[in-house]
Amino acid sequence: MSNLLHTPIEYLKGVGPKKGEALKKELNIYKYEDLLNYFPFRYVDRTIIHKVKDIPHIEGYVQLKGKITSIKETGKGRGKRLTAIFRDETGTIELIWFTGASWLIKTLKLNTPYKLYGKAKQFGLKWNISHPELEEIITNMPLETGLQSVYHSTDKLTKSYLHSKGIEKIIKNLLPQIKGQLPENLPDWIIRDLNLMCREEAIKAIHSPKNFDEAKKAQVRVKFEELFFLQLELLIRKQITQRRIKGYNFEQIGIFFNEFYENHLPFNLTNAQKKVLKEIRKDMQGGMHMNRLLQGDVGSGKTLVALMSMLIALGNDYQACLMAPTEILANQHYVTICEFLKQMNVEVALLTGSTRKKDRRILHEKLRSGEIHILIGTHALLEDEVKFKNLGLSVIDEQHRFGVAQRSKMWKKNDLPPHVLVMTATPIPRTLALTFYGDLDVSVIDELPPGRKTIQTRHYFEGSRLKVFKFIETEINKGRQVYIVYPLIKESEKMDYANLMDGYESILRRFPRPKYNVSIVHGQMKSEAKDFEMKLFAEGNTNIMVATTVIEVGVNVPNASIMIIESAEKFGLSQLHQLRGRVGRGAEQSYCILMTGNKLSADAKYRMETMVRTSDGFEISEADLKLRGPGDIMGTQQSGILNLKLADLAKDGQLVTLAREKARELLEKDSKFTEPQHQKIAIQLKKILQSKPNWSRIS
Ligand code: ADP
Ligand code: MG
Repeated sequence: MSNLLHTPIEYLKGVGPKKGEALKKELNIYKYEDLLNYFPFRYVDRTIIHKVKDIPHIEGYVQLKGKITSIKETGKGRGKRLTAIFRDETGTIELIWFTGASWLIKTLKLNTPYKLYGKAKQFGLKWNISHPELEEIITNMPLETGLQSVYHSTDKLTKSYLHSKGIEKIIKNLLPQIKGQLPENLPDWIIRDLNLMCREEAIKAIHSPKNFDEAKKAQVRVKFEELFFLQLELLIRKQITQRRIKGYNFEQIGIFFNEFYENHLPFNLTNAQKKVLKEIRKDMQGGMHMNRLLQGDVGSGKTLVALMSMLIALGNDYQACLMAPTEILANQHYVTICEFLKQMNVEVALLTGSTRKKDRRILHEKLRSGEIHILIGTHALLEDEVKFKNLGLSVIDEQHRFGVAQRSKMWKKNDLPPHVLVMTATPIPRTLALTFYGDLDVSVIDELPPGRKTIQTRHYFEGSRLKVFKFIETEINKGRQVYIVYPLIKESEKMDYANLMDGYESILRRFPRPKYNVSIVHGQMKSEAKDFEMKLFAEGNTNIMVATTVIEVGVNVPNASIMIIESAEKFGLSQLHQLRGRVGRGAEQSYCILMTGNKLSADAKYRMETMVRTSDGFEISEADLKLRGPGDIMGTQQSGILNLKLADLAKDGQLVTLAREKARELLEKDSKFTEPQHQKIAIQLKKILQSKPNWSRIS
């Protein structure tokens, strides 16, 4: 590698020690190379000048030419602000600054031509622009051509004159020096196949593109490179884990599976369930360790797949366990599985935080002796005293609620690690699954059991409450049951709790005893009380279940056909979809009603519209990704390891797929990178693999 790229940043023209220090502290830019890899996040076409009168028709950023005709300071202390009137030949618009007033007042010139750039926003009938960029127009100033690159900056950098424009300037000082220092790291055949820009050209163009087309092409090249090396890394990790880790060999399907399949299965498996079971079966018989993620929409029948996989383990003389994130869910699984197995000679046990000490001791012994075949529970299963005779398969339900560290404890329950099957609550967007679980095998149940009617989803504002109550009444009179869910969000727990109780009381008034019975379940209740109320509802003894999101996952009451979600705007998309999945489990037409206040943010509106438009969990997960970004969905800790500078998993789905394909193709062609054209890849990869811990195994 050339020395130029490793030159300390302070040596660059226009930087020096002070700015150099700021760049190191604020942006981790130590040398020329780091600066080259600090990419603009946006481009502005500086050749277009808008007119003030057109502002209402332009979305977002505008560029104006005109004069400041007046400036005044208003407010006091923290409310202090500076406002100015900016005028061009078509009209005026207000400018606002909330900080820096005294400095601005000194430097801004009245009735002097300025070029202005900023985001226009509407307040009531008026438009204004806060904190615009202003540049005095000096006669004979060369007209700007082409695009201006916009870089993220910080307050501290701005103080050292390294605002976006300042950063742009020092990069422009560096670019002409770059000639041949940025060698190609992708093989020719990939560049040709995808018609990519070469590396040096792309990095130069990304900072200083001639036009939007060139900028786009440069971005594609840089993003592809990031994603390609990431996918290559994941595929290699997958090969390594598959090569190295031995697992139990479940030679046969076994008598338990066969007996259940032939005599006790209450319905036909869907084709998707069959396909997934085949994949799991194949994994567990190869002598290698299974590490598989099972994706499927709410209600697609994952529990049954889990059960039948566990029966294969049993048929090979191994034990199995199923771990759920909450007690309610563990109970529910226990009840469901006991019901499925009631005519079979299988010993199923439940272990949760509320299992009594005395029962625990007996349970521990029976586990060690092998008398218990299937253990179901919460993370109580992970405690050290819980030891199995021979645990062959661990199923983990609702994956994203368990931390990696918790899961890794499962490994230590045996001499060889048990096979691991992880089931997600709702689908994870494809690009995230490929990336975060790229070294895992993924099975997808892409089909719901037959006969399900689509749940009808409606969105109502608070004003329609009476109508909604009337609807509930009609449905109850037809024999249906209703969930009414209130948000209970940690930060405002007290207030939410009060809302829940208010809601509960108003429901009791509207649906009085003895004609109606109403249950309530929330997190602050003792678990026996919760179970009692749940049972009343599950057995049809109460008409309405008022609850918090404790019922979010897993609860299965087929006769409940109406889900009312209060303050639905407070819930995220995947949560709303989970909640909706509690209905539509029986033969009746089901409904989901989203109640919201009248004022909704654009984001909340989009969530409601998405819910009304589709009930496809995969589509919803994609929408969720666009809204929240990968960090929020997967947990920032996990997304931090991605270290993507430019590529965006939410927006660059196609490139992720392409990168995956090419990485796979490369490994098929030359898995050891022996061809000369692939050696540069090997070098780069080695660097990447050495710098990262092994984070992606889920078990
Ligand atoms: P999830 O994938 O959300 O965990 P469940 O496993 O709870 O879904 O299944 C939802 C419902 O569908 C359960 O009542 C289950 O008994 C039922 N079910 C599962 N598989 C089938 C099938 N092949 N045919 C009909 N009903 C099924
Ligand atoms: Mg489930």
